[in-house]
Amino acid sequence: MRIGVLALQGDFIEHISTLKKLCVKAIPVRKPDELKGLNGLIFPGGESTTITSLMYSSSLFKPLKELAQAGLPIMGTCAGTVLMAKKVSNSDVSPLALMDIEVRRNAFGRQVASFETELPIPALGDKPFPAIFIRAPLILGTSPEVEILARLPDGTIVAARQGSKLAIAFHPELGSDLRLHGYFLEIVTGHQLTVQDGIHSEVKKLSRKAPIPAD
Ligand code: GLN
Repeated sequence: MRIGVLALQGDFIEHISTLKKLCVKAIPVRKPDELKGLNGLIFPGGESTTITSLMYSSSLFKPLKELAQAGLPIMGTCAGTVLMAKKVSNSDVSPLALMDIEVRRNAFGRQVASFETELPIPALGDKPFPAIFIRAPLILGTSPEVEILARLPDGTIVAARQGSKLAIAFHPELGSDLRLHGYFLEIVTGHQLTVQDGIHSEVKKLSRKAPIPAD
C-alpha cells in the first residue's frame, strides 16, 4: 500500500512518521508525477492559504481534484480539512471542494488558544481519542451524505466522513494514538485504486468490511 502525503507545507513529516509506525509506505508528494500509483493521500495541517497557493504553482490542484473525484481516498487534518471543504465561510481560500462540508477557519482562536481534549469517536471504539486542536477549523454544516464522526461537548462538528474522504479538524499526527490513521487505511483497503501514467483507473475493491457510501 502506498499512501501519499502532500508535502508542500505544514506537518507532513509527522504524518509520514505515523504511517511508518503502521508499516505503510509513505510518499511525500510535491509534484504531479508523484501522484502515480498512490492508494490514498493525506493533506496535513499547516496553513491552508499557503498550501492552496503552492498547489496551484506546482500544478497539483487539477490532478489532485481529478484523482479525488475518481475515488482516491483522502484524509485532511486541520488545514487539510479546509482543503477538503466545498465552502469556507470566513476566508477567500479556494478549497478543492471534495466533501459537502462548510468550514470556518481558525474557529477556536489563535495559537495560544490551542487545546487538547479526550474526544469520543464512536467509529474508533469506546476509548476517547486524544485530539490536539491548533488554530483549528470547525465544520459548520454538512449535506445528508456526510457522516459525522465526532463532535465536541457543545455539538461542534470536528470530524466527518463522506465515502472515501475524511475531514479531521484536529491533529492525529501529533499524538501517539494511531487509530485515526488506521481507520483511514481501512477505508483505503476497502477502496483500492491505482493511477498509471495519469490515467485514473479503479482496479480493485478489496476486503470491504462494511459498505462504503459512494462519493
Ligand atoms: N489555521 C490554519 C488554516 O486554516 C490551520 C492550522 C493548522 O493546520 N494547525 O489554514
